[in-house]
Amino acid sequence: MAKVLGLKCRECGREYPVEPMHVCEFCFGPLEVVYDYDDIKKRISRKKIEEGPKSLWRYIDLLPVEEPKVGLTAGFTPLRKAENLGKVLGLENLYIKDDSVNHPTLSFKDRVVSVALSKAVEFGFDTSACASTGNLANSVAAHSAQAGLNCFVFIPANLESQKIFGSLVFSPTVVAVEGTYDDVNRLCSEVASELNWAFVNINIRPYYAEGSKTLAFEVVEQLGWKAPDAVVAPAASGSLITKIWKGLKELLKVGLIEDMKTRVYGAQAQGCSPIATAWKEGRDYIIPVRPNTIAKSIAIGNPADGIYALQTTRESGGDWETATDEEIIEGIKLLAETEGIFTETAGGTTIAVLKKLAQRGAFRKEEVVVAYITGNGYKTMEVLEGHLKETVRIKPTLADFKEKILARV
Ligand SMILES: *Cc1c(COP(=O)(O)O)cnc(C)c1O
Ligand SMILES: [Zn+2]
Repeated sequence: MAKVLGLKCRECGREYPVEPMHVCEFCFGPLEVVYDYDDIKKRISRKKIEEGPKSLWRYIDLLPVEEPKVGLTAGFTPLRKAENLGKVLGLENLYIKDDSVNHPTLSFKDRVVSVALSKAVEFGFDTSACASTGNLANSVAAHSAQAGLNCFVFIPANLESQKIFGSLVFSPTVVAVEGTYDDVNRLCSEVASELNWAFVNINIRPYYAEGSKTLAFEVVEQLGWKAPDAVVAPAASGSLITKIWKGLKELLKVGLIEDMKTRVYGAQAQGCSPIATAWKEGRDYIIPVRPNTIAKSIAIGNPADGIYALQTTRESGGDWETATDEEIIEGIKLLAETEGIFTETAGGTTIAVLKKLAQRGAFRKEEVVVAYITGNGYKTMEVLEGHLKETVRIKPTLADFKEKILARV
């Protein structure tokens, strides 16, 4: 495989072959996929990408997979100019990258899982697994059904019921662990070291994480091969935001864009903001927290890629901001009412943070700003209970309609 040179430790730089492993044996740093960009530069072009499949696989030259095996429909989601929301926030060129309609399980996780499980099949695994806050479990279960893999998904027991059903329908073994995501993740690391399973976000993590880069690639292509001035993305483990930045830098490296000055902004829920808090306190290390927020999909108290997420905002000139649960619900409603997009709590966090950043002048009004909407509101409906207008109940008569409806508008 010419394009991929191997894995490399992010901390000490030691190199490893392309294998299902994720930590350096010498310093325990995380491993990352390294590419031969000179080789890729020769074979990649805007035209070749534009003629490729209408999925994230149009960027296969920058992904660590030889041939996609599963998840053929993931990615290539809409980038929508958000005129109405832009007016509210005083932004003339605001865009929504809408992964709430990603295929097949309505979150950005379909990107990382299609790459991870294609790789797992390439490695010859027959069993998939993950530690998840909900969306990852949905996606791993769906893609495993498609690939004919045995599947075990591990989740915190207190997840939203829609997210639990969204995994169960594909018939994996759903292991509901009595604890936080961080407890689930620790357990899974122990399980992964004993069993030969493809844990997409543990031993397959270096490959999994690469799928997030496609959120940068697509936005740039959809903007006519221009990097945006600023992006806002939610952070749980910090992988997504780190890889958006890596993706932007790669486009520059292989010559698909001429310049890139994108500022990357991170969004976290106030009830679980270990990365944003480290940033505000000027630390370059993370102090783990115990999550307490309705934004369960991004409630990771001990984020594996937290320090790299901090590096991303430092290098790119971005910033961090947080949103309270109340502000998250307001964010969900604001996006729905202005743009007709129903996002989940993670998207509500992004919109709430976008609003705060706009209000404190982080963007010039003509700048191209992209907000990443990473999940779908139909999966976290229960958080809206008591926060929306009531239905108006009537008898099936014209008189009642006139009295209860027309008389009040
Ligand atoms: C997992 C997830 C994220 C963040 O992912 P990380 O890569 O762990 O930071 C953001 N939004 C949604 C909806 C998610 O499910
Ligand atoms: Zn190392």
